[in-house]
Amino acid sequence: MQKIAIYPGSFDPVTNGHLDILERGLKLFDKIIVAILTNPGKKFLFPLEERREMLEVSMKRFSNVEIDTFDGLTVDYASQQNAQGILRGLRALSDFEYEFQMALMNRRLNREVQTVFLMTGLRWIYTSSSIIKQAAQFGGSIKGMVPPLVEKKIREKYRQIPV
Ligand code: ADP
Repeated sequence: MQKIAIYPGSFDPVTNGHLDILERGLKLFDKIIVAILTNPGKKFLFPLEERREMLEVSMKRFSNVEIDTFDGLTVDYASQQNAQGILRGLRALSDFEYEFQMALMNRRLNREVQTVFLMTGLRWIYTSSSIIKQAAQFGGSIKGMVPPLVEKKIREKYRQIPV
């Protein structure tokens, strides 16, 4: 049986930390579906199509990865995709409580789907989409933390939105 995981997230925008987890996940799963959250109630810097484009370009070097979008319950989406796993990344301590809460709720909702946590590489332990946006907004360098296209797109975005 093919081992499939979904990797859900906002990816607003994708960072090298996200890619690190994806690379590690591919050592465990035959296929990973990167599932971009479309939740209309959440405010994103980048619209869905731009988040998707940045992911597509950044993930070119990986095989056995698909990109999709979803809203609603993550476990329902996982079942639709015949996925046995939900892949999530863990950074510093701050991720634990939220991730545990979510994983336990998801388990309650569907016992067939397992959340799999992978520890990020040390280099990315303090990398998050939001800290990158904050730094870039005020002209800080984000070089080496995100793929080159993302760096370019963030710069362009903040040129359009005056600080
Ligand atoms: P969400 O809104 O679901 O938190 P994110 O795009 O912020 O979406 O994150 C998606 C997943 O990627 C989460 O499991 C998050 O912990 C993980 N992640 C984000 N940044 C990193 C990083 N630097 N290292 C490892 N995992 C990360």
